[in-house]
Amino acid sequence: AGRLLEVSGLTTRFDTPDGLVHAVNGVDFHVDRAEIVGVVGESGCGKSVTIRSILGLVRPPGRVVDGTARFDGVDLLGLRRTELRRLRGKDIGFIAQNPFSALNPVMRIHRQFATIMAAHGVKADGEVRDRARTALTDVGIAGPDRVLDGYAHQLSGGMAQRVVIAMAMLLNPTFVIADEPTTGLDLTVQRQILDLIRRLVREHDRSMLLVTHDLGVVAQYCDRVVVMYAGKVIEHGTVRDVLKDPRHPYTQALIRAIPRPGEPLVHLTGRLPDLIDYPSGCPFRARCPHAFEPCAQVVPAAVTEPSGQTYWCHLPQEREAAR
Ligand code: SF4
Ligand code: MG
Repeated sequence: AGRLLEVSGLTTRFDTPDGLVHAVNGVDFHVDRAEIVGVVGESGCGKSVTIRSILGLVRPPGRVVDGTARFDGVDLLGLRRTELRRLRGKDIGFIAQNPFSALNPVMRIHRQFATIMAAHGVKADGEVRDRARTALTDVGIAGPDRVLDGYAHQLSGGMAQRVVIAMAMLLNPTFVIADEPTTGLDLTVQRQILDLIRRLVREHDRSMLLVTHDLGVVAQYCDRVVVMYAGKVIEHGTVRDVLKDPRHPYTQALIRAIPRPGEPLVHLTGRLPDLIDYPSGCPFRARCPHAFEPCAQVVPAAVTEPSGQTYWCHLPQEREAAR
């Protein structure tokens, strides 16, 4: 299928009064063409900072200190802010967590569509109106003119997210990045929004990075999954491989924590590590039921299965050594 995005060694820090926050620590992953990749982990694991780093949306005191993010051959991290902004509308569509923060509260929706199009050369009023109508109809909005002539606060959460999705797809991007796009919506609407995003991605052979804390969403909507913990990727592989046979103890714990009808809820115990006083060795060791001697000192190296499923844990080496 071919690589669309290749992130390598991505490292992002926040310089706070309490010390340097190790938010993203040498993250590597890729997205192929026409593929939906889920990025999953608990809140605070660095998912959002990772994608914001790629999109040039990290603001001081945060900064990307290392790594590359090659998109279609171009390193996004080396682009100037204006170049990135252009790419963000045209080639990469971004769907943020909160639609109301993505929409301008004091500008009619129509003007916001017009602004996006004007930045990319479409200025004729009639054409703007036509294209905005089509975009809204595509996301299942029946009365597009009413929405276009109104303001964001007149919309429900689900409707507002549909408008944001329409804006993200407006210039026909090849790549879509969605950061927990259904946060705060009720379950029925969540499913409708995810179904809608998937349809728009699949119909046009787009690729997508879908950030979520919900492995159930990954199971249902993604082809591959990247599991993050404490600002690192700890496992990745096809959804089928990783969910059927998770290798990293953290992924195993996450899967046990998926709610199942009729079964008691299993919660992950223990706390996330301190990202300022970042732990030596394996970042999961304080919560890991299998932690043993080397885990405290040595950072685990990648173990790759023939299927491509990859994880970072000392256990298999120990099994080898015990033979
Ligand atoms: Fe657990 Fe050690 Fe593997 Fe980390 S490296 S997940 S602490 S066994
Ligand atoms: Mg987040």
